[in-house]
Amino acid sequence: MQSATYLDYNATSPLRPAVAAAISDAMSLVGNPSSVHRFGRAARARIEVARDQVAALVGAHPSQLVFTSGGTEANNLALAGCPPASQLVSAIEHDSVLRAAPRAVRVPVTPDGLVDLQALAELLRSAPGPALVSVMLANNETGVVQPVAEAAALAHRAGALVHCDAVQAAGKMIVDFAELGVDMMTLSAHKLGGPQGCGALIVADQVPLQVQQRGGGQERGRRAGTENVAAIVGFGVAAELAGRELSRMAEIARLRDRLERDAKRSVPAAVVFGAGSARLPNTSCLGLPGMPAETQVMALDLDGVAVSAGSACSSGKVRPSHVLAAMGVGAELAASAIRVSLGWRTTVADVEAFLSSWRKLAARRGLLSAEFEPAA
Ligand code: PLP
Repeated sequence: MQSATYLDYNATSPLRPAVAAAISDAMSLVGNPSSVHRFGRAARARIEVARDQVAALVGAHPSQLVFTSGGTEANNLALAGCPPASQLVSAIEHDSVLRAAPRAVRVPVTPDGLVDLQALAELLRSAPGPALVSVMLANNETGVVQPVAEAAALAHRAGALVHCDAVQAAGKMIVDFAELGVDMMTLSAHKLGGPQGCGALIVADQVPLQVQQRGGGQERGRRAGTENVAAIVGFGVAAELAGRELSRMAEIARLRDRLERDAKRSVPAAVVFGAGSARLPNTSCLGLPGMPAETQVMALDLDGVAVSAGSACSSGKVRPSHVLAAMGVGAELAASAIRVSLGWRTTVADVEAFLSSWRKLAARRGLLSAEFEPAA
């Protein structure tokens, strides 16, 4: 069953119809892209078109792009595939970075959710040898946009390599691989209206990446395995559409801002985490004090409104958010945080459906401002 109101784009974006059509068409291709006959060459050509489309979205050279099975694999390839002696990762990274680098030193963030550049500089100074720094471009829970270019400049001055997880940022803001000055960047198709199970790692020419998945020589020897042609084709089309529709993000930001303004007006105790920083236009991390996030997510779902608990993990269980904890948010308030994320299909009606359902929850806790209390 599909929720009438889908506001969980940071978990996965609905597949764009043009992407579904392109995938369906590519599914009928016959050849293995490594085969030299005409069928193989036709499949290969489709992959190369997609490579151009995805590279164009983030200002990279197509030859720098390695297709993977998603953002998780790309993050693992970057973290495990780089030899530096020490790893420094921001404390708010996605689990696919944190768990790929279990011994990494965590770089703290400020209460506004921004990587602490001064702490990074100090950690770089005390690093025992060449380091790999990983800082995401935008956080998946709060949407806070990180000072990646500044972090990369600091890291490079200290002789470190820099990886950036741009999974949530791509398609929601302008992303330029060269301008950010990073050495590696992770992307995921399903966050921008493409298929699940497809992503990419962009690798600058000089990076000594060690292959993690061995086998055939696909992806110029950097990631073995027959390519998922149909998904890659879908990724390409999604990237092109997302790039073309970046201008629509201003409209999405207006919807998100309206949601937050009306939420705060009706529930003065509500908290918007990361609101003091530049954020993705589509993301709101909203705390309703005293009301556990799981309760909110379930009650909203009963009303046909789909959002995430701020701290949901892939098993669906809710556990304390390491992102909000790193920002210094108390455990009880953090446990009340939900993530509302908008996207290409979101309308004013969706925002209103969310607010009307969420206000009912606030009323249960007596948090609704008198102006919004239904007349007795
Ligand atoms: N990085 C970030 C910031 C994410 O939000 C996610 C998914 O939620 C991932 C990586 C993992 O990407 P994928 O689902 O393609 O494995």
